[in-house]
Amino acid sequence: MNVNAIIQNQSLKAYNTFGIDVNARYFAEFNKIETLSEVLASATFQQNKQLILGGGSNILFTKNFDGIVLHNLLKGISKVQVSEHDYHVSAAAGEVWHDLVLYAITNNLGGIENLSLIPGYVGASPMQNIGAYGVEIKDIFVSLKAMEVATGLIKTFTKEECAFGYRESFFKRAGKGKYIILEVTFQLSTKHQLNTSYGAIEQELAKMNAEPNIKNISQAVINIRSSKLPNPKELGNAGSFFKNPTITIAHYETLKKQYLDLPGYPINAQNIKTAAGYLIEKCGLKGFRKEDAGVHQMQALVLVNYGKASGHQIFDLSSLVIEKVKENFGIELEREVNII
Ligand SMILES: Cc1cc2nc3c(=O)[nH]c(=O)nc-3n(C[C@H](O)[C@H](O)[C@H](O)COP(=O)(O)OP(=O)(O)OC[C@H]3O[C@@H](n4cnc5c(N)ncnc54)[C@H](O)[C@@H]3O)c2cc1C
Repeated sequence: MNVNAIIQNQSLKAYNTFGIDVNARYFAEFNKIETLSEVLASATFQQNKQLILGGGSNILFTKNFDGIVLHNLLKGISKVQVSEHDYHVSAAAGEVWHDLVLYAITNNLGGIENLSLIPGYVGASPMQNIGAYGVEIKDIFVSLKAMEVATGLIKTFTKEECAFGYRESFFKRAGKGKYIILEVTFQLSTKHQLNTSYGAIEQELAKMNAEPNIKNISQAVINIRSSKLPNPKELGNAGSFFKNPTITIAHYETLKKQYLDLPGYPINAQNIKTAAGYLIEKCGLKGFRKEDAGVHQMQALVLVNYGKASGHQIFDLSSLVIEKVKENFGIELEREVNII
Protein backbone atom coordinates (compact mmCIF):
# COMPACT_ATOMS: atom_id res chain seq x y z
CA MET A 1 0.00 0.00 0.00
CA ASN A 2 1.20 3.43 -0.89
CA VAL A 3 1.91 5.13 2.43
CA ASN A 4 0.43 8.34 0.96
CA ALA A 5 -2.97 6.64 0.95
CA ILE A 6 -2.94 6.73 4.75
CA ILE A 7 -3.96 10.26 5.70
CA GLN A 8 -2.89 11.84 8.99
CA ASN A 9 -5.13 13.88 11.31
CA GLN A 10 -8.36 13.35 9.41
CA SER A 11 -11.47 15.03 10.83
CA LEU A 12 -14.23 12.46 11.47
CA LYS A 13 -17.03 15.03 11.70
CA ALA A 14 -18.46 14.04 8.31
CA TYR A 15 -18.00 10.34 9.09
CA ASN A 16 -20.31 10.02 12.09
CA THR A 17 -24.03 10.86 12.17
CA PHE A 18 -23.72 12.50 15.60
CA GLY A 19 -21.51 15.03 13.81
CA ILE A 20 -18.91 14.90 16.59
CA ASP A 21 -15.83 16.87 15.69
CA VAL A 22 -12.88 14.60 16.47
CA ASN A 23 -9.80 13.61 14.52
CA ALA A 24 -8.31 10.24 13.64
CA ARG A 25 -4.55 10.10 13.89
CA TYR A 26 -4.50 7.95 10.74
CA PHE A 27 -7.27 7.34 8.21
CA ALA A 28 -7.50 5.14 5.11
CA GLU A 29 -10.27 4.15 2.74
CA PHE A 30 -10.43 0.90 0.79
CA ASN A 31 -12.60 -0.15 -2.14
CA LYS A 32 -10.73 -3.37 -2.93
CA ILE A 33 -9.92 -6.35 -0.73
CA GLU A 34 -6.30 -6.23 -2.00
CA THR A 35 -5.97 -2.66 -0.71
CA LEU A 36 -7.37 -3.74 2.65
CA SER A 37 -4.85 -6.60 2.81
CA GLU A 38 -2.04 -4.13 2.13
CA VAL A 39 -3.26 -1.76 4.85
CA LEU A 40 -3.41 -4.66 7.31
CA ALA A 41 0.19 -5.54 6.49
CA SER A 42 1.42 -1.96 6.96
CA ALA A 43 3.40 -0.91 10.01
CA THR A 44 0.96 1.97 10.63
CA PHE A 45 -1.89 -0.51 10.97
CA GLN A 46 0.00 -3.05 13.02
CA GLN A 47 1.48 -0.56 15.46
CA ASN A 48 -1.72 1.36 16.18
CA LYS A 49 -5.19 0.96 17.61
CA GLN A 50 -7.64 0.15 14.82
CA LEU A 51 -11.25 0.98 14.04
CA ILE A 52 -13.30 -0.08 11.05
CA LEU A 53 -15.95 2.45 10.11
CA GLY A 54 -19.05 2.12 7.97
CA GLY A 55 -21.61 4.94 7.84
CA GLY A 56 -20.80 6.03 11.41
CA SER A 57 -24.48 5.85 12.38
CA ASN A 58 -24.07 3.69 15.48
CA ILE A 59 -20.99 5.19 17.00
CA LEU A 60 -20.15 7.91 19.52
CA PHE A 61 -16.63 9.32 19.49
CA THR A 62 -15.82 10.65 22.95
CA LYS A 63 -12.28 11.74 22.05
CA ASN A 64 -9.83 11.96 19.18
CA PHE A 65 -9.05 8.49 17.85
CA ASP A 66 -5.39 7.86 18.54
CA GLY A 67 -5.00 5.11 15.97
CA ILE A 68 -6.04 4.18 12.44
CA VAL A 69 -9.60 4.39 11.14
CA LEU A 70 -10.41 2.32 8.04
CA HIS A 71 -13.40 3.49 6.04
CA ASN A 72 -15.04 0.71 4.08
CA LEU A 73 -15.99 1.50 0.47
CA LEU A 74 -16.34 -2.05 -0.89
CA LYS A 75 -19.20 -2.07 -3.41
CA GLY A 76 -21.22 -4.64 -5.36
CA ILE A 77 -24.49 -6.57 -5.10
CA SER A 78 -25.20 -9.88 -6.84
CA LYS A 79 -27.82 -12.61 -6.68
CA VAL A 80 -27.97 -16.36 -7.28
CA GLN A 81 -31.20 -18.33 -7.57
CA VAL A 82 -31.23 -21.22 -5.08
CA SER A 83 -34.76 -22.59 -5.53
CA GLU A 84 -37.96 -21.78 -7.42
CA HIS A 85 -38.62 -18.62 -5.39
CA ASP A 86 -35.49 -18.06 -3.34
CA TYR A 87 -32.35 -16.09 -4.09
CA HIS A 88 -29.12 -15.59 -2.22
CA VAL A 89 -28.30 -11.90 -2.47
CA SER A 90 -24.72 -10.95 -1.57
CA ALA A 91 -23.78 -7.35 -0.87
CA ALA A 92 -20.34 -5.92 -0.29
CA ALA A 93 -19.86 -4.40 3.15
CA GLY A 94 -19.53 -0.82 1.88
CA GLU A 95 -22.93 -0.79 0.18
CA VAL A 96 -25.40 1.57 1.81
CA TRP A 97 -28.02 -0.55 3.58
CA HIS A 98 -31.00 1.24 2.06
CA ASP A 99 -29.54 0.79 -1.43
CA LEU A 100 -29.68 -2.97 -0.80
CA VAL A 101 -33.34 -2.63 0.23
CA LEU A 102 -34.04 -0.73 -3.00
CA TYR A 103 -32.18 -3.40 -5.02
CA ALA A 104 -34.37 -6.08 -3.41
CA ILE A 105 -37.58 -4.21 -4.17
CA THR A 106 -36.54 -3.48 -7.77
CA ASN A 107 -35.82 -7.20 -8.23
CA ASN A 108 -39.16 -8.20 -6.64
CA LEU A 109 -37.34 -9.85 -3.73
CA GLY A 110 -39.09 -9.77 -0.36
CA GLY A 111 -37.62 -10.06 3.14
CA ILE A 112 -35.98 -6.73 3.99
CA GLU A 113 -38.69 -4.19 3.09
CA ASN A 114 -39.46 -3.60 6.80
CA LEU A 115 -35.80 -2.59 7.29
CA SER A 116 -36.09 0.34 4.87
CA LEU A 117 -34.19 3.53 5.61
CA ILE A 118 -32.01 2.17 8.44
CA PRO A 119 -28.86 4.27 8.06
CA GLY A 120 -25.41 2.78 7.64
CA TYR A 121 -23.66 0.19 5.53
CA VAL A 122 -24.33 -3.50 4.89
CA GLY A 123 -21.08 -4.47 6.67
CA ALA A 124 -22.30 -3.17 10.02
CA SER A 125 -25.75 -4.78 9.75
CA PRO A 126 -24.68 -8.08 11.38
CA MET A 127 -22.81 -6.26 14.17
CA GLN A 128 -25.98 -5.57 16.10
CA ASN A 129 -28.37 -7.70 14.04
CA ILE A 130 -30.22 -4.60 12.86
CA GLY A 131 -33.94 -4.73 13.25
CA ALA A 132 -37.10 -2.70 12.83
CA TYR A 133 -40.84 -3.21 12.44
CA GLY A 134 -40.82 -6.87 13.48
CA VAL A 135 -37.88 -8.01 11.31
CA GLU A 136 -34.21 -8.56 12.18
CA ILE A 137 -31.48 -9.47 9.72
CA LYS A 138 -31.09 -12.84 11.44
CA ASP A 139 -34.47 -13.74 9.86
CA ILE A 140 -33.01 -13.66 6.33
CA PHE A 141 -29.27 -14.01 7.03
CA VAL A 142 -27.35 -16.81 5.27
CA SER A 143 -23.64 -16.14 5.87
CA LEU A 144 -20.93 -13.51 5.81
CA LYS A 145 -17.31 -13.25 4.79
CA ALA A 146 -14.88 -11.46 7.06
CA MET A 147 -11.14 -10.86 7.11
CA GLU A 148 -9.39 -11.80 10.33
CA VAL A 149 -7.35 -8.79 11.42
CA ALA A 150 -4.55 -10.86 12.99
CA THR A 151 -3.91 -13.08 9.96
CA GLY A 152 -5.50 -11.38 6.93
CA LEU A 153 -7.32 -14.66 6.20
CA ILE A 154 -10.90 -14.59 4.94
CA LYS A 155 -13.37 -16.72 6.86
CA THR A 156 -17.03 -17.54 6.19
CA PHE A 157 -19.39 -17.29 9.18
CA THR A 158 -22.68 -19.19 9.33
CA LYS A 159 -25.73 -17.78 11.08
CA GLU A 160 -25.03 -19.96 14.13
CA GLU A 161 -21.45 -18.69 14.34
CA CYS A 162 -22.69 -15.10 14.29
CA ALA A 163 -24.66 -15.80 17.52
CA PHE A 164 -27.28 -13.16 16.79
CA GLY A 165 -29.42 -11.78 19.61
CA TYR A 166 -31.36 -8.59 20.20
CA ARG A 167 -28.98 -5.87 18.95
CA GLU A 168 -26.18 -8.38 19.53
CA SER A 169 -23.80 -10.71 17.73
CA PHE A 170 -20.49 -12.52 18.07
CA PHE A 171 -18.87 -9.44 16.46
CA LYS A 172 -19.96 -7.17 19.33
CA ARG A 173 -18.75 -9.71 21.95
CA ALA A 174 -15.94 -12.27 21.58
CA GLY A 175 -15.21 -11.26 17.97
CA LYS A 176 -15.03 -7.53 18.73
CA GLY A 177 -12.26 -5.82 16.75
CA LYS A 178 -11.00 -9.16 15.42
CA TYR A 179 -12.75 -9.26 12.03
CA ILE A 180 -13.51 -6.92 9.17
CA ILE A 181 -16.78 -7.90 7.54
CA LEU A 182 -16.40 -7.90 3.74
CA GLU A 183 -19.67 -9.26 2.37
CA VAL A 184 -23.03 -10.40 3.68
CA THR A 185 -25.43 -12.88 2.02
CA PHE A 186 -29.17 -12.85 2.63
CA GLN A 187 -31.94 -15.18 1.45
CA LEU A 188 -34.70 -13.17 -0.21
CA SER A 189 -37.73 -14.51 -2.00
CA THR A 190 -40.11 -13.76 -4.85
CA LYS A 191 -42.76 -15.47 -2.69
CA HIS A 192 -43.37 -12.57 -0.36
CA GLN A 193 -44.21 -13.10 3.30
CA LEU A 194 -45.50 -9.70 4.27
CA ASN A 195 -45.25 -8.48 7.83
CA THR A 196 -47.56 -5.53 8.45
CA SER A 197 -48.56 -6.29 12.03
CA TYR A 198 -45.88 -4.22 13.71
CA GLY A 199 -46.01 -0.54 14.58
CA ALA A 200 -48.20 1.66 12.45
CA ILE A 201 -47.58 -0.05 9.08
CA GLU A 202 -51.21 -1.01 8.55
CA GLN A 203 -52.48 2.48 9.42
CA GLU A 204 -49.89 4.03 7.13
CA LEU A 205 -50.86 1.73 4.23
CA ALA A 206 -54.50 2.72 4.78
CA LYS A 207 -53.50 6.40 4.80
CA MET A 208 -51.59 5.85 1.56
CA ASN A 209 -54.60 3.98 0.18
CA ALA A 210 -52.11 1.30 -0.86
CA GLU A 211 -52.36 -2.49 -0.94
CA PRO A 212 -49.80 -4.42 1.12
CA ASN A 213 -46.88 -5.39 -1.12
CA ILE A 214 -43.12 -5.06 -0.61
CA LYS A 215 -42.90 -1.71 -2.40
CA ASN A 216 -45.75 -0.13 -0.47
CA ILE A 217 -44.58 -1.56 2.86
CA SER A 218 -41.15 -0.08 2.22
CA GLN A 219 -42.74 3.30 1.46
CA ALA A 220 -44.96 3.06 4.56
CA VAL A 221 -41.90 2.34 6.72
CA ILE A 222 -40.06 5.26 5.11
CA ASN A 223 -43.00 7.57 5.84
CA ILE A 224 -43.29 6.46 9.47
CA ARG A 225 -39.55 6.66 10.12
CA SER A 226 -39.26 10.08 8.49
CA SER A 227 -42.06 11.44 10.68
CA LYS A 228 -40.75 9.92 13.94
CA LEU A 229 -36.97 9.98 13.82
CA PRO A 230 -34.70 13.00 13.49
CA ASN A 231 -32.78 13.10 10.21
CA PRO A 232 -29.05 12.98 11.13
CA LYS A 233 -28.36 15.44 8.30
CA GLU A 234 -30.44 18.00 10.20
CA LEU A 235 -29.88 16.96 13.82
CA GLY A 236 -26.94 14.78 14.84
CA ASN A 237 -27.98 11.44 16.34
CA ALA A 238 -27.35 7.69 16.16
CA GLY A 239 -30.94 6.43 16.36
CA SER A 240 -31.88 4.58 19.55
CA PHE A 241 -29.15 5.25 22.06
CA PHE A 242 -30.28 2.53 24.49
CA LYS A 243 -31.51 -1.03 24.14
CA ASN A 244 -34.99 -1.88 25.31
CA PRO A 245 -34.38 -3.62 28.65
CA THR A 246 -35.49 -7.11 29.65
CA ILE A 247 -36.82 -7.46 33.19
CA THR A 248 -38.46 -10.23 35.18
CA ILE A 249 -42.23 -10.54 34.95
CA ALA A 250 -42.43 -10.05 38.74
CA HIS A 251 -40.57 -6.72 38.44
CA TYR A 252 -42.81 -5.74 35.54
CA GLU A 253 -45.99 -6.54 37.51
CA THR A 254 -44.79 -4.43 40.45
CA LEU A 255 -44.03 -1.44 38.19
CA LYS A 256 -47.31 -1.85 36.35
CA LYS A 257 -49.26 -1.12 39.54
CA GLN A 258 -47.88 2.43 39.38
CA TYR A 259 -47.41 2.77 35.62
CA LEU A 260 -50.58 1.32 34.17
CA ASP A 261 -49.52 1.83 30.55
CA LEU A 262 -46.00 0.39 30.92
CA PRO A 263 -45.32 -1.45 27.63
CA GLY A 264 -44.38 -5.14 27.88
CA TYR A 265 -43.46 -7.72 25.26
CA PRO A 266 -43.10 -11.19 26.83
CA ILE A 267 -39.89 -12.99 25.86
CA ASN A 268 -40.29 -16.23 27.80
CA ALA A 269 -42.01 -17.53 30.94
CA GLN A 270 -39.82 -15.42 33.24
CA ASN A 271 -38.89 -12.31 31.30
CA ILE A 272 -40.48 -9.42 29.54
CA LYS A 273 -39.03 -6.65 27.41
CA THR A 274 -40.12 -3.10 28.15
CA ALA A 275 -39.61 0.19 26.32
CA ALA A 276 -36.57 2.28 27.27
CA GLY A 277 -38.16 5.36 25.65
CA TYR A 278 -41.18 5.10 27.98
CA LEU A 279 -38.96 4.86 31.07
CA ILE A 280 -36.85 7.87 30.02
CA GLU A 281 -39.97 9.90 29.32
CA LYS A 282 -41.45 9.04 32.73
CA CYS A 283 -38.24 10.32 34.34
CA GLY A 284 -39.12 13.70 32.83
CA LEU A 285 -36.13 13.65 30.52
CA LYS A 286 -37.87 13.80 27.13
CA GLY A 287 -36.73 17.06 25.55
CA PHE A 288 -34.11 17.62 28.31
CA ARG A 289 -31.14 19.61 27.04
CA LYS A 290 -27.80 20.48 28.58
CA GLU A 291 -25.80 22.79 26.35
CA ASP A 292 -25.87 21.14 22.92
CA ALA A 293 -26.52 17.58 24.13
CA GLY A 294 -30.17 16.60 24.40
CA VAL A 295 -32.82 13.94 24.68
CA HIS A 296 -34.94 14.26 21.55
CA GLN A 297 -38.23 16.12 22.03
CA MET A 298 -40.37 13.55 20.21
CA GLN A 299 -38.46 10.31 20.81
CA ALA A 300 -36.86 9.91 24.25
CA LEU A 301 -34.78 6.92 23.13
CA VAL A 302 -32.74 9.15 20.82
CA LEU A 303 -29.99 11.44 22.09
CA VAL A 304 -29.16 14.38 19.85
CA ASN A 305 -26.39 16.86 19.14
CA TYR A 306 -27.88 20.33 18.67
CA GLY A 307 -24.67 21.49 17.01
CA LYS A 308 -21.49 21.71 19.01
CA ALA A 309 -21.88 18.98 21.63
CA SER A 310 -18.76 16.98 22.31
CA GLY A 311 -18.92 13.21 22.42
CA HIS A 312 -18.19 13.50 26.12
CA GLN A 313 -21.23 15.70 26.71
CA ILE A 314 -23.45 13.19 24.89
CA PHE A 315 -21.88 10.36 26.89
CA ASP A 316 -22.43 12.24 30.18
CA LEU A 317 -26.05 12.81 29.23
CA SER A 318 -26.43 9.08 28.56
CA SER A 319 -25.00 8.39 32.04
CA LEU A 320 -27.54 10.78 33.57
CA VAL A 321 -30.36 8.96 31.74
CA ILE A 322 -29.09 5.58 32.98
CA GLU A 323 -28.85 6.93 36.56
CA LYS A 324 -32.37 8.41 36.56
CA VAL A 325 -33.98 5.29 35.08
CA LYS A 326 -32.18 3.13 37.65
CA GLU A 327 -33.30 5.43 40.47
CA ASN A 328 -36.95 5.49 39.39
CA PHE A 329 -37.47 1.98 38.05
CA GLY A 330 -34.59 -0.17 39.34
CA ILE A 331 -33.74 -0.94 35.71
CA GLU A 332 -30.21 -0.62 34.33
CA LEU A 333 -30.33 0.63 30.74
CA GLU A 334 -27.64 -0.58 28.38
CA ARG A 335 -26.22 1.63 25.62
CA GLU A 336 -26.85 0.35 22.09
CA VAL A 337 -24.45 2.81 20.45
CA ASN A 338 -20.76 1.85 20.23
CA ILE A 339 -18.75 4.18 22.47
CA ILE A 340 -15.25 4.92 21.19
C1 LIG B 1 -31.74 7.89 12.52
C2 LIG B 1 -31.23 6.52 12.84
C3 LIG B 1 -32.11 5.45 12.92
C4 LIG B 1 -31.65 4.16 13.19
N1 LIG B 1 -32.55 3.14 13.23
C5 LIG B 1 -32.13 1.88 13.48
C6 LIG B 1 -33.07 0.79 13.50
O1 LIG B 1 -34.26 0.96 13.24
N2 LIG B 1 -32.60 -0.44 13.78
C7 LIG B 1 -31.29 -0.68 14.02
O2 LIG B 1 -30.94 -1.84 14.28
N3 LIG B 1 -30.37 0.32 14.01
C8 LIG B 1 -30.76 1.59 13.74
N4 LIG B 1 -29.85 2.63 13.73
C9 LIG B 1 -28.46 2.34 14.05
C10 LIG B 1 -27.55 2.12 12.80
O3 LIG B 1 -28.16 2.64 11.65
C11 LIG B 1 -27.24 0.66 12.55
O4 LIG B 1 -26.66 0.09 13.69
C12 LIG B 1 -26.30 0.46 11.35
O5 LIG B 1 -26.18 -0.91 11.05
C13 LIG B 1 -24.91 1.04 11.59
O6 LIG B 1 -24.21 0.99 10.36
P1 LIG B 1 -22.95 1.87 10.11
O7 LIG B 1 -22.36 1.43 8.81
O8 LIG B 1 -23.28 3.30 10.21
O9 LIG B 1 -22.01 1.41 11.31
P2 LIG B 1 -20.89 2.26 12.07
O10 LIG B 1 -21.54 3.23 12.99
O11 LIG B 1 -19.89 2.78 11.11
O12 LIG B 1 -20.22 1.12 12.94
C14 LIG B 1 -20.96 0.47 13.96
C15 LIG B 1 -20.07 -0.62 14.57
O13 LIG B 1 -19.81 -1.63 13.61
C16 LIG B 1 -18.41 -1.76 13.36
N5 LIG B 1 -18.28 -2.00 11.92
C17 LIG B 1 -18.76 -1.23 10.91
N6 LIG B 1 -18.50 -1.79 9.73
C18 LIG B 1 -17.83 -2.94 9.98
C19 LIG B 1 -17.27 -3.96 9.16
N7 LIG B 1 -17.34 -3.94 7.83
N8 LIG B 1 -16.62 -4.98 9.77
C20 LIG B 1 -16.52 -5.04 11.12
N9 LIG B 1 -17.03 -4.10 11.95
C21 LIG B 1 -17.68 -3.07 11.38
C22 LIG B 1 -17.80 -0.45 13.82
O14 LIG B 1 -16.45 -0.60 14.20
C23 LIG B 1 -18.69 -0.10 15.00
O15 LIG B 1 -18.29 -0.80 16.15
C24 LIG B 1 -30.29 3.93 13.43
C25 LIG B 1 -29.37 5.01 13.35
C26 LIG B 1 -29.84 6.29 13.05
C27 LIG B 1 -28.87 7.43 12.95
